[in-house]
Amino acid sequence: MSKRIEGRVQELHVRFVNYGRNAREWMRKCVMLLPEIERERVWEKKGFGSVYEYAGKLAGMSRSCVDEALRVLKRIQDKPELILVAEERGINAVKPVATIATPDTAAFWAGKVETMSKNTLEVYVHEVRDQEKKCEINSEATQLLPRKELTMTLDPSLAAQLEKLCVASGGDWNVVMRKLLEARDAVLEHEQPEAVEATSRHIPAEIEKFVIKRSGGLCEFPKCTRAYAILHHTQRFALEEVHDPARLVALCVAHERLVHLGLIAYEDEAPNKWAVREEADPSEKKYAVDQKVQKFRRPG
Ligand SMILES: [Zn+2]
Repeated sequence: MSKRIEGRVQELHVRFVNYGRNAREWMRKCVMLLPEIERERVWEKKGFGSVYEYAGKLAGMSRSCVDEALRVLKRIQDKPELILVAEERGINAVKPVATIATPDTAAFWAGKVETMSKNTLEVYVHEVRDQEKKCEINSEATQLLPRKELTMTLDPSLAAQLEKLCVASGGDWNVVMRKLLEARDAVLEHEQPEAVEATSRHIPAEIEKFVIKRSGGLCEFPKCTRAYAILHHTQRFALEEVHDPARLVALCVAHERLVHLGLIAYEDEAPNKWAVREEADPSEKKYAVDQKVQKFRRPG
């Protein structure tokens, strides 16, 4: 590319980025006015048939965009901290927390919007809800938890073997399945490779293969069924340079982000004991390492 063409390309790009940024900013301003425009029926007073026609003709807004804006802004109307975030970053940024935030927790959730990507935030909100549900049910009384029904399509011979096991276990499928899982755990424990002192961050193939096998190729966070994306050292590699299969966990991107945001409690235990928490604990050794990681990972 000649110097002249190169210069022109750069100029076009800079102008486009600048105009695009401004266009988004002005669109956000329009969106924030919509609830009042609707409430005061400004559109009618100015001769338009509906708020959709008004927003469409004057700002090029689609019908679904108007609906979404009105819905989200109605939910956060009593939460000034979230309105502030919506003004700066658009309603899409606050959407994941619009239904979970209350006037009391709006500041907390606004903080989370600032530090997380949309995907991580959605997953975090999901976990918090799930945990709240669990807390509502007395955790001691697991017997009283609502049972979940699973339907399976099996080979007849396999079904017959399982049914026999069930009869032998007093007709309780929970006993059968627990035993099968314990047997699987025992096999995995037997196969687990020794931890190795690391010479580099590269995880030895044997250990990597074992962790992926244990996870079934999925994220090991409880209930998460997304494909794993990262093998995470729970001790933090920077703190202890070892590849230990017992301290390596397969995680999807969102759950790995939550771990490095310090929002997972009991991380040193097996992942089925993990729970989300509200804030990172600065007294933990991992905190400083995670802070460094955050510097490289500002939400887009
Ligand atoms: Zn996950």
